[in-house]
Amino acid sequence: MERTLILCKPDCMQKNLAGEVIGRIQKAGLRIQAAKVLRLTDALLAEHYSHLTDKPFFPEIVQFMKSAPVLGLIMTGDNAVATVRDLLGPTDSRKADKGTIRGDLGESNMLNIAHASDSVENAEIEVKRFFRADEIPA
Ligand code: ADP
Repeated sequence: MERTLILCKPDCMQKNLAGEVIGRIQKAGLRIQAAKVLRLTDALLAEHYSHLTDKPFFPEIVQFMKSAPVLGLIMTGDNAVATVRDLLGPTDSRKADKGTIRGDLGESNMLNIAHASDSVENAEIEVKRFFRADEIPA
């Protein structure tokens, strides 16, 4: 059993689409292990998007990700990481196929509805970044 970390981003929350996103992931066979609504901070975002801090659009991402609370989820299932990345589609929503979450619901590179871990190794790091051990039921 594998787990992955998902964030329903501010655009998803403002459009009231978290249920739609979770439903698509559940239909693919994954289950919710833990969930919480949280507001992201500069420190958390600098860590989470450390691979992007030198990009010109980094301040814009930080502003966007702090613009509304997000829903953090740990979801589990066979092949969870790749399954959710496939459901999500590529980063740029305009290039994502119809039928994917980003292709159907996203607007752009930045406004792309959800984050999902891109490897099993990163999933474990991201789970610990966003959830304390006592927030994850055994
Ligand atoms: P992904 O979220 O698909 O794993 P990245 O880790 O490369 O993609 O980027 C993290 C987030 O930063 C993206 O989901 C998106 O919200 C934002 N982003 C990435 N590239 C751009 C860009 N060129 N312009 C604006 N925002 C971007």
